[in-house]
Amino acid sequence: SPVSPAAVTALGRRRCQRITVGHGERAVPVGGDAPVSVQSMTTTPTADIDATLQQIAELTAAGCQIVRVAVPSQDDADALPAIAAKSAIPVIADIHFQPRYVFAAIDAGCAAVRVNPGNIKKFDDKVAQIAKAAAAAEVPIRIGVNAGSLDQRLLAKHGRATPQALAESALWEASLFEEHGFHDLKISVKHHDVLTMVAAYEILAEACAYPLHLGVTEAGPPPQGVIKSTAAFAILLRQGIGDTIRVSLSAPPVEEVKAGIAILESLGLRQPRLEIVSCPGCGRLQIDLYRLTAQVEAAFEDFPHPLRVAVMGCVVNGPGEAREADLGVSAGNGKGQIFVKGEVVETVPESQIIETLIKHAMSLAESGTGS
Ligand code: SF4
Repeated sequence: SPVSPAAVTALGRRRCQRITVGHGERAVPVGGDAPVSVQSMTTTPTADIDATLQQIAELTAAGCQIVRVAVPSQDDADALPAIAAKSAIPVIADIHFQPRYVFAAIDAGCAAVRVNPGNIKKFDDKVAQIAKAAAAAEVPIRIGVNAGSLDQRLLAKHGRATPQALAESALWEASLFEEHGFHDLKISVKHHDVLTMVAAYEILAEACAYPLHLGVTEAGPPPQGVIKSTAAFAILLRQGIGDTIRVSLSAPPVEEVKAGIAILESLGLRQPRLEIVSCPGCGRLQIDLYRLTAQVEAAFEDFPHPLRVAVMGCVVNGPGEAREADLGVSAGNGKGQIFVKGEVVETVPESQIIETLIKHAMSLAESGTGS
């Protein structure tokens, strides 16, 4: 591929080629120095166009940048043109067994296609045609290897889904496309075990210059799934490895998007929209800290400016401990001491804490001195 692998850019990102998922205003760059993007996958039957578009709209509102839809049947393939046309974010068709759906997805205007080398023996002799169609439509292909459906040849060679087996499967499939001059690829090698997954991506990062889609597969329900994904992504992203992420959860996909965004924010790869700095509570607590924190979170969830809000459970350490917050409250004894940029500005009854915080947040936003 055109970029030499294994180099790290000045920003600490692994040097890789940049691909573009989608066209025009909906295009999302992946790789190179593009910001790490967050994606998810719909859970509705793709053939149910209205339900799928509704879920895509919810994902888009939550901050999802790329969405994937499964295409297991002809009815699903038939729904792709309407979904691709009406989605506000790029739509990737996820195809496991049927090469003909790849052509359908490209014709439908999908932004990219994901194929699984383990499930697509039939694909190998179709690669030339797929590469030609995808190149003509400027549609990138994601080679998505999964531990659970690893190519039988590699399973036999390695005995199980080792990091080497996962990486080798992806690189083999990539080589088939390269033979036809097609490099518009990104790669994923997912495993449910965090350290196996991490090792597989580390091998790939050294061996190729394609953008990498990170994911821990079958990560489970939250919080386990979020924790496993966070652990894996943090190790990799800290090394500059990873260009787009999906947190796989046994939960509504909007939860995947929220978790993905939070991971990028906590690693400093994205400016947080809202950061709640809240104390864990201790024997000095004089209020229902969990309830107050939830109220603050709900009040500022859609605040249009980045904000760091502190919620402290007593007046002893409040403003001091949360000096770096834009504003906050130290609550206790039925009152809330409101502070802005570390200085106490007023004390209000507990019932007025939220409205007072909102008032000060608005003035901070107007004066342009938020986070
Ligand atoms: Fe305890 Fe107060 Fe610190 Fe919260 S802010 S942990 S209640 S001392």
